[in-house]
Amino acid sequence: TCGICVEKCPFDAIEIINLPQELGDEPTHRYGENSFALYGLPIPEKGKVTGILGPNGIGKSTAIKALAGEITPNLGNFDEPPGWDAVIDEFGGTELQPFLKGVRDGDIEVARKPQYVDQIPASFDGNTRALLESADERGVVDELAERLSIEPVLDSDIDTLSGGELQRVALAATLARDADFYFLDELTPYLDIDQRVTAARLVRELADDDRAMLVVEHDLAVLDLLADSVHVAYGEPSAYGVITPPKSTRNGINEYLKGYLDNENMRIRPETIEFEEHAPRMSSRSETLVEYPGMSKTYGDGDGGFTLDVEAGEINRNEVLGIVGPNGIGKSTFAKLLAGRLTPDGGELDLSLDIAYKPQYVEVDQHMRVDAFLSSITDDFGTSYWETEIADPLQLGRIMEQNLTDLSGGERQRVAIAATLSRDADLYLLDEPSAHLDVEQRVLAARAIRRYAENHETSVMVIDHDIYTIDLLSDRLLVFDGEPAQHGHASTPLGMRDGMNEFLANLDITFRRDENIGRPRINKPGSQKDKQQKRDGEYYYTQ
Ligand code: ADP
Ligand code: ADP
Ligand code: MG
Repeated sequence: TCGICVEKCPFDAIEIINLPQELGDEPTHRYGENSFALYGLPIPEKGKVTGILGPNGIGKSTAIKALAGEITPNLGNFDEPPGWDAVIDEFGGTELQPFLKGVRDGDIEVARKPQYVDQIPASFDGNTRALLESADERGVVDELAERLSIEPVLDSDIDTLSGGELQRVALAATLARDADFYFLDELTPYLDIDQRVTAARLVRELADDDRAMLVVEHDLAVLDLLADSVHVAYGEPSAYGVITPPKSTRNGINEYLKGYLDNENMRIRPETIEFEEHAPRMSSRSETLVEYPGMSKTYGDGDGGFTLDVEAGEINRNEVLGIVGPNGIGKSTFAKLLAGRLTPDGGELDLSLDIAYKPQYVEVDQHMRVDAFLSSITDDFGTSYWETEIADPLQLGRIMEQNLTDLSGGERQRVAIAATLSRDADLYLLDEPSAHLDVEQRVLAARAIRRYAENHETSVMVIDHDIYTIDLLSDRLLVFDGEPAQHGHASTPLGMRDGMNEFLANLDITFRRDENIGRPRINKPGSQKDKQQKRDGEYYYTQ
């Protein structure tokens, strides 16, 4: 399949490919007349981590509600739902049948981590310790707090925690429950790579305890590390969704990236998402936007405060500079120094740079429609140029008339990226643009950001913890290391190969390439490849 034509090959060179379309058969569940329909269900398995890979709005939460017994699937008959026995008959002979009987009889305990942890403070009043203790059916909260580095915030009120802290607290609270079936709706938003790997490990360990884990995850490197098998979900978001039978994690992710499901003979996207196996060559054509000097910044009087040391460097026009490093290491502090919002120790820094900044946690309290908000930022709003460069790739069309306060996390993220790129500035800084976006949206956003830098001869700095997003986006890397909350060090901007090597050596993680599509995969620590690559000093690009 060449991937160019999606309907019928005009040269009859290749087989006719099925395009997703609503199936003729009855769905597993339909909310109502002309409402969303779900086909199929994922199969949780004891002792296993099962992943679901698919876009937002495709029915993942609907499937979970069915498996948790919160909704009884109506098999498409929303007027007269046939009840659990009919559902169990429908799945007769599949691995799902015994599980569904358990749900019907109320024998299955479910623990669930919600997708949007930012909403937890609204429903819980108290401190971290109280929240964790209320969930601690297994008596493991102390251990989880230690491994997830929650201890410093145990006595803090829940409504004072950052998104990254809330994410880890929510995970600890979910895993502390004594359940048969755990559902984790996105593990990684706001976590750095080290925290992502720790979270993945904790979920794996609980599966080994003979519990069933079902995980929705858009960070493919983490999903790959975590899941024993994956179900791909495809269809038309908000209209219908199909959940495939389980595939091996490797095949599921590869087919998803290729945009073609082998067993289903189904093209789910016109093009393949590809990764470069070798580092991009540094282009010598770029002009320098700004050179900045070596500098330091200490908060407070230095005792017990945080200190950041920055090596001198330059930022080029036409480039996307990826910024990687743990949370709490001084990345935002660096941005504020460049923007002149903070003064470095012992002197002024005047770069006269206008910086447009998208913070990591996108909050909105304006009661305003999306279109009104965006048109208040740029006069280009609504021009075909703005539509092509910003609105289309960020899929804003369908949400223009909604209120900012009604948007989901992923929708809010896309509006915030659009708003930042629509500003007039010398340098654009995006803090974790991938958070809450699905895989498709991450790739589209990465392309839009790259194209923006090229077409506007401008510079974009992107902080992100999704290694695939960083790979797709960046021309060069700025690597932060040190001890979070104590001291940080920022390298000078490095080429991709040196940058990835430095960053991943700090984390002690190597990547191999999938022989099929060149996708980077985390090596098992201590495996042949891991040892060899560490000896060679090649942590990411192996060619
Ligand atoms: P995902 O978890 O994959 O993002 P969901 O299962 O939450 O997707 O939603 C799938 C679709 O079903 C969405 O279009 C959503 O608006 C719709 N939907 C969810 N709950 C209901 C409901 N109670 N009634 C009607 N439609 C619903
Ligand atoms: P990152 O962006 O890498 O997550 P930050 O630059 O936000 O890190 O913060 C680095 C450290 O400095 C953190 O420990 C943070 O708590 C601390 N910090 C940030 N801003 C201030 C401030 N205004 N006063 C004191 N400490 C601060
Ligand atoms: Mg959902």
